Amino acid sequence: MLRVFAAVGGANTLAGWFPFLKFPSTNMLKQTENRGATTKVKTKIAVIGAGAFGGWTALYLLRRGAKVTLLDAWGPGNSRASSGGETRVIRGTYGPNQSHTKMAARATQLWKENEKRWNQKLMHQTGVLWMVTAGDDQFERASLPLLRDAGIAYQELSVQEMSARWPQINLEAVHWGIYEPQGGFLMARVACQAVLDGFLAEGGEYRQVAVLPRDLERTWDSLSLSDGSKVEADQYVFACGPWLGKLFPESVGTRIRPTKQDVFFFGTPAGDNRFAETSLPVWADHRDRFIYGIPSNEGRGFKVADDTRGPEFDPTAGERAVSPQGLKIIRDYIAFRFPALKDAPLLESRVCQYENTADNNFILDRHPQHKNVWMLGGGSGHGFKHGPALGEMVAGLIMEFKDPDALFRLSRFGK
Ligand SMILES: Cc1cc2nc3c(=O)[nH]c(=O)nc-3n(C[C@H](O)[C@H](O)[C@H](O)COP(=O)(O)OP(=O)(O)OC[C@H]3O[C@@H](n4cnc5c(N)ncnc54)[C@H](O)[C@@H]3O)c2cc1C
Repeated sequence: MLRVFAAVGGANTLAGWFPFLKFPSTNMLKQTENRGATTKVKTKIAVIGAGAFGGWTALYLLRRGAKVTLLDAWGPGNSRASSGGETRVIRGTYGPNQSHTKMAARATQLWKENEKRWNQKLMHQTGVLWMVTAGDDQFERASLPLLRDAGIAYQELSVQEMSARWPQINLEAVHWGIYEPQGGFLMARVACQAVLDGFLAEGGEYRQVAVLPRDLERTWDSLSLSDGSKVEADQYVFACGPWLGKLFPESVGTRIRPTKQDVFFFGTPAGDNRFAETSLPVWADHRDRFIYGIPSNEGRGFKVADDTRGPEFDPTAGERAVSPQGLKIIRDYIAFRFPALKDAPLLESRVCQYENTADNNFILDRHPQHKNVWMLGGGSGHGFKHGPALGEMVAGLIMEFKDPDALFRLSRFGK
């Protein structure tokens, strides 16, 4: 049962990829009269947060002609940020009734475009194998037409086909699989730095400084910074990941809920490449728990994590120590699904946090009182891959004076 759908490509415009947005012709410059001559003044935009959301947004705002200052308290992909750490999965399988598959397709195109521009490898297209083990495969079945519509290549694989290709996986209780050959993993922290480097090379300004969380919900005309200086801009974009609710306690507040997520890296046997990126795709196992992993790359070991939401977590002060129970769950899992790694030693572990919204969709909205203040976040454990597509979209909205789709607005949560 091998069915293959090839990527067909798609409209190469924002409107083509996000049909719910309407974009008039570009007019990104304010014009002022100056002694009879017309002087073009660039829109000044401050972006706060140089993670996956803020970094790409700053870059695309710059490319649309704005004068952009990017600020970050600890730097792009720092160890407290949700974009920190080694790697992130990029895939299009997302279930029914959502816009993420299409956004992932656009993002893949933009990751490639920027990799080429910067001559730097950030996306490893190892493929992604989605093992269908839940009794009910509605989620996976419903994903297929969306993959097809978005032009994302995929194969439906039988258990026999999977075991022939990846004998290192014990496929017990797996019914079938979806394989996305162009999916894979992204370098996380390294990519955030690459985006910043690109941004600087194209003329952006970056400052490593914190915005003081001073009454941002009330009237203000500039941002107070941790070094005592101020920043004033025409538009502000707050892309502060798990900190967004703290900066805007009334308009965002607990609508973003950071949870502790443990990530483990296990050592593979010496000289055994069966669990490395050359032999194994990224994989996701949809069972009672949703466990996923990234094959060993750059000598970091075999990464495994549980997508189940952990306890609430403070991104600034939280101690980043993994839980022994979490480690046990992962060890038991590995012994079952990857028997050759039963006794693999733990090489490294990390604690990151998801910044969850109630519906796992992103937040992109103007502040209810300040129309030139934008709030962007809510990556909910799957936002990294979308960075470039989201950045492109946000830049389009801001520069075209457009409103975000209802899908992303805070009003969807009610009071
Ligand atoms: C363990 C784990 C696994 C994940 N796996 C995947 C995956 O496989 N695929 C995927 O697509 N996504 C994944 N995600 C989700 C994804 O990484 C996040 O959704 C995404 O990185 C969020 O980016 P962000 O820019 O919104 O937030 P962040 O990366 O947290 O960036 C926010 C930035 O704001 C800065 N900041 C905060 N407050 C201030 C202030 N007052 N002043 C100045 N700067 C400030 C911070 O320093 C930070 O750099 C995962 C996340 C985790 C934690």
